[in-house]
Amino acid sequence: MTVEAVRGALFDPQPDGSVRYFADGGILGDGKGRIVASGAWPAIAAKLGSAADAVPQARGFLLPPFVDAHIHIPQHPIRGRFLEGVIGSPEGGPLLAGLNKNVFPAEGRCRDEAVARKIIADFRTDTLAHGTVGGAAYMTVHTTATRAALEQLDPAWSVGLVLMERYCPEYLRTDDPALEHDVAALARDFGHRVIVTDRFAGAVDTPLRKRGVALAKQFNLRMQTHLNEQQAEKAWTESLYPDAASYTDVYRRDGLLDRAAILAHCIQMTQDEWDLLAAAIGPGATGAAIAHCPVSNTWLGSGVMPLDEVVARRIPYALCTDVGASPTTSLLCEMVQFLRVHAGRSTRATPSEALFATTLAPAQILGLADRLGSFDVGKDFSFIEVQTSATPTTFTSADDAILRGLLEVEPADLRRYEPGGELGTLVDRLIATGLPVGEELARLTTEISKTAARVDDKVVRTILAGREAWSRS
Ligand SMILES: [Zn+2]
Repeated sequence: MTVEAVRGALFDPQPDGSVRYFADGGILGDGKGRIVASGAWPAIAAKLGSAADAVPQARGFLLPPFVDAHIHIPQHPIRGRFLEGVIGSPEGGPLLAGLNKNVFPAEGRCRDEAVARKIIADFRTDTLAHGTVGGAAYMTVHTTATRAALEQLDPAWSVGLVLMERYCPEYLRTDDPALEHDVAALARDFGHRVIVTDRFAGAVDTPLRKRGVALAKQFNLRMQTHLNEQQAEKAWTESLYPDAASYTDVYRRDGLLDRAAILAHCIQMTQDEWDLLAAAIGPGATGAAIAHCPVSNTWLGSGVMPLDEVVARRIPYALCTDVGASPTTSLLCEMVQFLRVHAGRSTRATPSEALFATTLAPAQILGLADRLGSFDVGKDFSFIEVQTSATPTTFTSADDAILRGLLEVEPADLRRYEPGGELGTLVDRLIATGLPVGEELARLTTEISKTAARVDDKVVRTILAGREAWSRS
């Protein structure tokens, strides 16, 4: 079914990070999948004349589709079960324990192409049902599974063939002799949608990373990896590189930072590392960015990315789910957790910022902003409808409409997370040291589970270039 016009309360993110809100707004398409007008309804109605009366009312708020710049496809079947069976603070920390116990076996299953194709199909349906239409995903070390993901997912998705060679099972290691051939073949068929993916500095040593960097350079591809997630992981990783100044320095000296890298987490950073990152990825440099994952970082007890350090250095970042370390692919849930963990700690963590960081920011980072991220004339006629029990005309600002309307969160809920609030001490400890798996961490993750369940069926329709890609019946 095709859609050519829609009327409803509308959020339109702007390049400066603000959001324009129209309690009575609309979007008009050209019938070929492009936007010809958007904004306040009266102006659109005037263009349409008598045809305006026939335009359907949306079943909720209208916003640009979400884009998730850090998510693991093979972990989709085990989302929310990353730490299942892990207790307390095992040696090396819960992150490495969860990878070994739950994540690597799940990723190993994608060696079978039929299994991988089923996982990718389920991933596609589930992300569309949560309003996410593109992003940057990790597949596995398997070239056939990576090719399948690039074939099955929509073109707004980039996918990474994962490099891994040590501290991981034998069955989950890069096919070393085939690497150059495989990346060349993927790049030939899928171009810049292929991301050369360094699992993290613990699993990949310098020679293999440098081969990945050389391939990325040869085929003009970007790279992605993980950086400074947990304290124990940082200490262990740095012990593997006694000659490097820091975890971040490993990626700098091996050339990865020069490949428009998407760096996930960036929590346990020293001032030197922030400066290194800013020099390498600031505005005008290589187009690299940070994937900020508040649900994952809480769920695994990792910590909280220091938002003000990122903003002060004008490093681009997007909010991302990092599924399977999040129980849901919902970026609405991610927005809520972003506001909670930064509540009373960063003035930058506003509801408008949360919406910008899940729509236009990732679209810009991934080079999709000519089609997605906002409702500018000429972009694709793509939007999602998000159900609400609120009355859109009661809100006086975009921030208020996003928080209390779109997310259905009251300011009192956020105050519980502020320093001195009911859950504020736990967040402070999460930031200072991380939290071990146990009852205290469960207080925070239970709240996430409740939010995930509450927002789970809020997206009712996903429209891509004028065509209905998904609808809740
Ligand atoms: Zn990740």
